Amino acid sequence: MPESVKFICLRCGHNFVADYTPKVVEERTCPKCGSNSVRRQKGKAAEKAAD
Ligand SMILES: [Zn+2]
Repeated sequence: MPESVKFICLRCGHNFVADYTPKVVEERTCPKCGSNSVRRQKGKAAEKAAD
């Protein structure tokens, strides 16, 4: 089941929310600059899960 997760672009620092499905690897690109250097932001839920 997809969940909305915050992502941050390492290139321009743009924050955005996208659907994230565990165990499904998807290439993500920043909607602002088009860079694929995007990382999922850690949240309260993410702290519990082993990533
Ligand atoms: Zn960007």
